[in-house]
Amino acid sequence: MNLKDKNSLVTGGSRGIGKSIAMKLAELGANVAITYSRSADAAEEVVKEMKALGVKAIAIQADAVDFARADEVINEIVEEWGSLDILVNNAGITKDNLILRMDEKAWDDVINTNLKSVFNYSKAAAKPMMRARGGSIINISSVVGISGNAGQSNYAASKAGIVGFTKSFAKELASRNIRANVVAPGYITTEMTGSLDEKLLEAIKSETPLGRPGEPEEVANSVAFLASEWSSYITGEVIRVDGGMAM
Ligand code: NAP
Repeated sequence: MNLKDKNSLVTGGSRGIGKSIAMKLAELGANVAITYSRSADAAEEVVKEMKALGVKAIAIQADAVDFARADEVINEIVEEWGSLDILVNNAGITKDNLILRMDEKAWDDVINTNLKSVFNYSKAAAKPMMRARGGSIINISSVVGISGNAGQSNYAASKAGIVGFTKSFAKELASRNIRANVVAPGYITTEMTGSLDEKLLEAIKSETPLGRPGEPEEVANSVAFLASEWSSYITGEVIRVDGGMAM
């Protein structure tokens, strides 16, 4: 697999799965821009690590919820590097609660950060990708969007929404040679899942046929495949990276 000279953007690339995806794309030779919301130092560290691999890399502060900012970010990349070939919509948050206890803000924040952001960046990326007659968009959903989860109705709705959006986008843009696919991770060891208690962790492991949590790099490998020409005839697909959890 080779992504040499491809230009890419990973939203939320400062930590966790997004960082692993950015590093994997860079390892395969792509130039990588990452966005972040608060972690400026961590984002600059990721940029340093990517540059050490011999590719171009930049970090851009951008709240993924901000519609107009998505256009600015993508224009900046296209002006700097000439094109945008790969977009990975990874930025995401959780604000868990049971539905009866969930307030409006927890609902809006999660839907806006996880789902509206995918619309913001996909729409903005479609323009340069159409001009270049090709591109690959990979949206990070979750197995929770497929199976639902008590205490995560906002998160599950946002992640299910990503699947519907991606399939619609894939149908609208296929004639322009732009592919769009979803990666749906199961339980992956990152800061997002770091606060889960031991009992819940054991329950998750017992529901996972492969019997262990996944590593961010295992998600990144699937994203790299979908970004590359190795998946040239795949669009509108959902790949679960979940150790069999949602099977
Ligand atoms: P994480 O460790 O909490 O990292 C989240 C990343 O998203 C950070 O880089 C963060 O930037 C960025 N971000 C958050 N809100 C943002 C905003 N408004 N604008 C721009 N960037 C923002 O999470 P993770 O576990 O790596 O998860 C990454 C993606 O995978 C998410 O979409 C998540 O839903 C999905 N996922 C994770 C798991 C899992 O088990 N970990 C399972 C299924 C799906 P800052 O550092 O600046 O805050």
